[in-house]
Amino acid sequence: MLAIILGSVGILLGLFALIIGVTTTRHIGKRDPVAVPNIWRKVLRIKSRPVHHLSQDSVHTERRERIAFIANPTKDGIAELRELSMRACSIRYMPEPLWYFTTVEDSGEGQARQAISDGADVVVAVGGDGTVRGVAAAVAGTGTAMGILPMGTGNLFARNLDLSLSDAPAQMRTIIEGEEAEIDVVWLYVERHHKAQTERERHLCLVIAGAGFDAEMVAGTDDKLKHRIGWFAYFLAAIKFTSDARMEASVSVDDSKPVMSQMRTVMIANVGNLPGGIKLIPDASVTDGELDVATLDARAGVVGWTDLFGTVMAQGAGVKQPEVFKAYRTSRIDLARGKSVDIEMKQPQKIQVDGEFLGTGTAIRAEVAPGALKMRVPKANKASGPATEAAIVEVYGADGAVSGESPEVSASKVVDA
Ligand SMILES: [Mg+2]
Repeated sequence: MLAIILGSVGILLGLFALIIGVTTTRHIGKRDPVAVPNIWRKVLRIKSRPVHHLSQDSVHTERRERIAFIANPTKDGIAELRELSMRACSIRYMPEPLWYFTTVEDSGEGQARQAISDGADVVVAVGGDGTVRGVAAAVAGTGTAMGILPMGTGNLFARNLDLSLSDAPAQMRTIIEGEEAEIDVVWLYVERHHKAQTERERHLCLVIAGAGFDAEMVAGTDDKLKHRIGWFAYFLAAIKFTSDARMEASVSVDDSKPVMSQMRTVMIANVGNLPGGIKLIPDASVTDGELDVATLDARAGVVGWTDLFGTVMAQGAGVKQPEVFKAYRTSRIDLARGKSVDIEMKQPQKIQVDGEFLGTGTAIRAEVAPGALKMRVPKANKASGPATEAAIVEVYGADGAVSGESPEVSASKVVDA
């Protein structure tokens, strides 16, 4: 009796072990075609997944590009991002990414040029608007693609492109597998008089440049405060300068006859959105091949300033200032659009570009370079056609995670970097 029971248990255990053995072997065989000998594959009827199927989701890209990252080493989390980049490239059988670091003297332009001459196909700015601007200055017009891993306080350009600001794996996917959008940039030529000589400097503008009140705000903003409360600091700084005299300047769009007028500030914009949902130039576009010029004026002290801020807020809500009332109001905004603009100022004025103070100058010429930046943006859902602004918004607005491998997949295939 005991022998029969023991025998049955033995047979059951044996069957159980056989089932586990076969299941495990089949599982391994399906995943790895060389792990199980052919004879066993036939006996156990193991069909391995075709190799291209393996690469369809996680190793989608056909690109075998070398990616260079230009990072601001003072930002937190650089080491983690570097590791993530190594992993993301190695699971796709791409060359090991190159990493360069910005310095106090060079915010990314020199490093980006070095990366291009070292053979990089994509140059990525890892940092705030300063790093982005430095890298873009080197990359613009070269045909080399550019990406952004935003890490600043403002991230104005990244926000205007609707790039993810916090999801690192999604940002990495966009850089490696994203579409390329041809983005306009604006070149500024700033003139200053120095010891009876006129100096002319070239600067890149991706977001917005300005002279007068706008630049006073940037120059007057406490850096520590900016770190703590972000863009609100600029508005606090604005209060200090509201009683200053207005500036006088002539503005000429596309070499038309210059128009002389008084104003608080004149701004040249590549994009239209300012932080805090303020739409300075509601229908500005980074892909229309044109730049936007805005002159802002406020008279009659606080009344005029309140009126001006009200007008800017109303614009954001889609309400435009009617032409007929402009002459009677205490504030006005004039907008123009073109390929270039020349601004000549009666007195030297403070100048800023993308939130960086450039000192004082007497004249600015700005020219748009249409489609000069090949920017990696999130992949559109539809496979056809180049990414348009609408597509960028559509994809990122819908869900943060764009198609491609999930973060778990990359995490499970960690390769020693
Ligand atoms: Mg434009």
